[in-house]
Amino acid sequence: GLNVFEYAVPMAAFPTHFEDSRRSSAQLFSIMGNQKEVKKPVSAVLQDEPMDVEVRNLSFAYGNRNVLDDVSVTFSAGSKTAIVGPSGSGKSTLFQLLVKLYEPTSGTISINQEFLTNVEQEDLWSYTNVVMQENHFFYGTVRDNLLLANDNASDIELKAALQAVELHAHELDDRILEKGENLSGGERQKLAMARAFLKKGRIWLLDEPFSSMDLLTEQKVIAELTQKAKDATLIFISHRLAGLERMDQIIVMDEGRVVEVGSFSELMSKKGYFYHLKQVEKSILFS
Ligand code: ADP
Ligand code: MG
Repeated sequence: GLNVFEYAVPMAAFPTHFEDSRRSSAQLFSIMGNQKEVKKPVSAVLQDEPMDVEVRNLSFAYGNRNVLDDVSVTFSAGSKTAIVGPSGSGKSTLFQLLVKLYEPTSGTISINQEFLTNVEQEDLWSYTNVVMQENHFFYGTVRDNLLLANDNASDIELKAALQAVELHAHELDDRILEKGENLSGGERQKLAMARAFLKKGRIWLLDEPFSSMDLLTEQKVIAELTQKAKDATLIFISHRLAGLERMDQIIVMDEGRVVEVGSFSELMSKKGYFYHLKQVEKSILFS
């Protein structure tokens, strides 16, 4: 898919992602292990209430390599935020700290005033909709894989979720091979989104959930997502700048720092980094 940053940033600035992918598959197994034990949310009322997420002076290093440097951002309850920035700018690292896959080197994250260090990862995941760049699927039917998010969902609800992500070619009884290897990258992302649509999270955290989808499907799924997550706090890392007009807040990252924060129109009238990237994206799209 089109990623403006691939055009806007010199190739030399690109990290290799081999270690990233090896790391994330190992982590996925540990997460899925945890997820089996996730408790059912106590009450529907509690479940519907959006949560406030505060990041204060957050820094993170892999070994002695700093990749997040003094990041402070607020995701207020019910707000919709997109995080953008070049490859290697630290977006996924911030995401992994937010879902408690890593602990910060310094600084804090809190959810409704509670420090994340005091929250169990499985509790966090029980009220959070997490969609990663690569998601876990197991050998079984489409239905089995969807029910993982909400085992009370009816076939009608499951079909509606598939419809919402335009996964028309698949029936609920179709087999999915281990790791979803008989699906394309775009289909795996659609299935992961369909699964998220079935769960009523209070926080939605998504890391480039549309990177392998075509532009039209992506725009449709973003519209669906803002609707489905309308009562929740939505934080999503976007590989594209299109469709961000509907976000309350856009966070622009570069080299482990937050370089700009604002709404789409604020960032456009500021004519800074985001504006520049938007011009580059436009020229690619319409050339
Ligand atoms: P983004 O998601 O914005 O592309 P990442 O958070 O994945 O950025 O990466 C930020 C930086 O941290 C990059 O330079 C990347 O190479 C490095 N990095 C990511 N994961 C690891 C890891 N497991 N070990 C060492 N360095 C890593
Ligand atoms: Mg990333």
